[in-house]
Amino acid sequence: MKESVKILKGHILFTKSLDTFTIIENGYIVVDGPHVAYVGESLPIEYTDYPIKDYGNKLIIPGFVDTHVHGPQYCNRGLGMDMELLPWLETYTFPEEDKFKEEGYAKKVYTAFIDDLKRNGTTRAVIYGTIHLTGTVELMKAVADAGISAYVGKVNMNQNAPDYLREEDSQSIADTIESIKKSTDFAPYVRPIVTPRFAPSCTYKLMKELSEIAKAHDLPVQSHLSENRGEIDWVKSLFPGSKDYTSVYVDHNLIGQQPTIMAHCIHLSDDEIEILAKTHTMVAHCPYSNNNLSSGIAPIRKLLDAGVPVALGSDISGGHLTSMARVLTEAIGLSKMKWAEVDGERKPITLSEAFYMATRGGGSFFGNVGSFEEGFEFDALVIDDASIFDMNVRSPLERLERWLYIGDDRQIVDRYCRGALLCS
Ligand SMILES: [Zn+2]
Repeated sequence: MKESVKILKGHILFTKSLDTFTIIENGYIVVDGPHVAYVGESLPIEYTDYPIKDYGNKLIIPGFVDTHVHGPQYCNRGLGMDMELLPWLETYTFPEEDKFKEEGYAKKVYTAFIDDLKRNGTTRAVIYGTIHLTGTVELMKAVADAGISAYVGKVNMNQNAPDYLREEDSQSIADTIESIKKSTDFAPYVRPIVTPRFAPSCTYKLMKELSEIAKAHDLPVQSHLSENRGEIDWVKSLFPGSKDYTSVYVDHNLIGQQPTIMAHCIHLSDDEIEILAKTHTMVAHCPYSNNNLSSGIAPIRKLLDAGVPVALGSDISGGHLTSMARVLTEAIGLSKMKWAEVDGERKPITLSEAFYMATRGGGSFFGNVGSFEEGFEFDALVIDDASIFDMNVRSPLERLERWLYIGDDRQIVDRYCRGALLCS
């Protein structure tokens, strides 16, 4: 018997594609090391002598992927929710981010933040730190200590930021390279990602240099795109040489060169959507943040129809909840409002589509992640929903839907990342 093998049994639900769930009642998952070796209704003969972790009537689903979240804004969740983006940044976000120059502060907040992600079933995340190198290393450490997996980016800002958060060009580049080196101390849990905050906070020169770092180290890129109308007008005035907001990033090789995630993407022209589709740029849709900062409703159906890969993000603290179960149900709700109030031609997104975006869709940024197909890395949550009162017998899919809407972390009894059971 191989020590690297574990076998789980239960009601298994996952999405191989946007349009449907794969459901295996009383099924088996064989995990070998970090990978799924088998999933199905009966156990293959070569595994019959192995012990089975029998989860009985519980649900087994993939772990969630949060593709857009700001660790240093964790203490601000639920604050300033009556402001729009730019005043919200000035009033709440930047003063809080300044505190992460202190290692002790960073360590405390990041430990609590990552613990919250893990508790709520996020096993993969794509995270912004701050401009500070030592604080960002604390974030990497918190990720590795928790046993989850994340891209962690040191943020770059050398213009249009308060003095206390504005970097000198040379420091910004040197600290970015050092943060990439440091991330190897926390492999395989942490991977680095190049993180220009958004176009207004970076000069042409800095954006070019960051794209060269991304290329030289073969790293992905994350930033923000087209969140708010005031921001879009501002970008137009700051970068008159570029055709539109998306083109600012294309012109600096921050879209189209390396794998890239752009958060929000709410007010895009058809040309801009075509660029995102052609370059396979992933959109991190953040429905709570769209709501809270009065940004608008991202055209998710239109993006999907155009072939743009879409994933979901909590966007702490533009969004106020870390739970990706809540984020995915909110994405469904917002898409219904878009359909009812704005664009009756484009249907709301379905439960399977939202679930796919929160698991396999976002997981694709990490490789084969977010599904139980053979060869995928095994990230999973085990849900015991027996405490949710109901007089009726429900199917596993009904039980999953209900838990996504009204359940919480108390029903998540086990969490796995990369094949390992995480301690709670
Ligand atoms: Zn953001």
